[in-house]
Amino acid sequence: MTDSAVIAVEDLRKHYGAVRAVDGIGFAVARGSTCALLGGNGAGKTTTIAMLLGLLLPTGGRIQILGEDIPRHRYRVLPRMNFSSPYMDLPQRLTVNENLTVYARLYGVRRIRERLEKLGQELDIDAFFKRPYGSLSAGQKTRVALAKALLNEPEILLLDEPTASLDPDTADRMRSILTAYRDRSGATLLLASHNMSEVERLCDQVIMLRAGRIVAAGAPRELIHRYGRKDMEEVFLDIARGIRDGEVMA
Ligand code: ATP
Repeated sequence: MTDSAVIAVEDLRKHYGAVRAVDGIGFAVARGSTCALLGGNGAGKTTTIAMLLGLLLPTGGRIQILGEDIPRHRYRVLPRMNFSSPYMDLPQRLTVNENLTVYARLYGVRRIRERLEKLGQELDIDAFFKRPYGSLSAGQKTRVALAKALLNEPEILLLDEPTASLDPDTADRMRSILTAYRDRSGATLLLASHNMSEVERLCDQVIMLRAGRIVAAGAPRELIHRYGRKDMEEVFLDIARGIRDGEVMA
């Protein structure tokens, strides 16, 4: 692991019988940078993020986050990390405020009321703080999930499709909040996304997965240049369809 790499992955694998969800990937993410995990449905993005969080045991390989082995020493670094995922649901009957308070306590946040007030305003969720979480729309839940992810001011933020259910205006505001947070705090972001303009705007580095393997990696501008395309949307289609620099990949 280089000094500046706060996430380092080597030969990471997750197999389910014959299914190779993740099949020997390696990458490093530098402190303060933003990296995107891209790939079509079933490429292995969510599985990779779940292993980085220590929620899934790898079949093989090595993960180091902030210099600690995951999953072995995950409890040493989990307080310095956080995540959001559309697959995570919060207790439906608790209010938004109650849910966030529980997480704030779990993360040992000081001055919880002030922190929640600030996040409530920033993410524009204070209007439904007193409502049961289960009564919120998908986009409102996503904003609450982002608030939960920022509660402990994490150094490492893992985001699985952070703006998937948001309208374009709200998605844009959430991206601004995430970049402002990253720039202010020096946090490192790793996100899975299907939104290529989001990737171009937020990310320094892209890792493209197909069937559990890395098929391309680099800075968005570098990839656009390499593939001779006008944007990441076109590059994504080329890579997903197996075209490499104009040639068809095996
Ligand atoms: P999407 O964009 O659709 O969210 P993804 O890139 O996040 O896709 P994963 O959810 O990581 O993909 O899935 C990778 C592969 O692993 C898929 O083929 C999936 O069917 C398989 N898979 C994931 N979890 C399991 C499981 N528990 N048992 C068997 N196969 C699994």
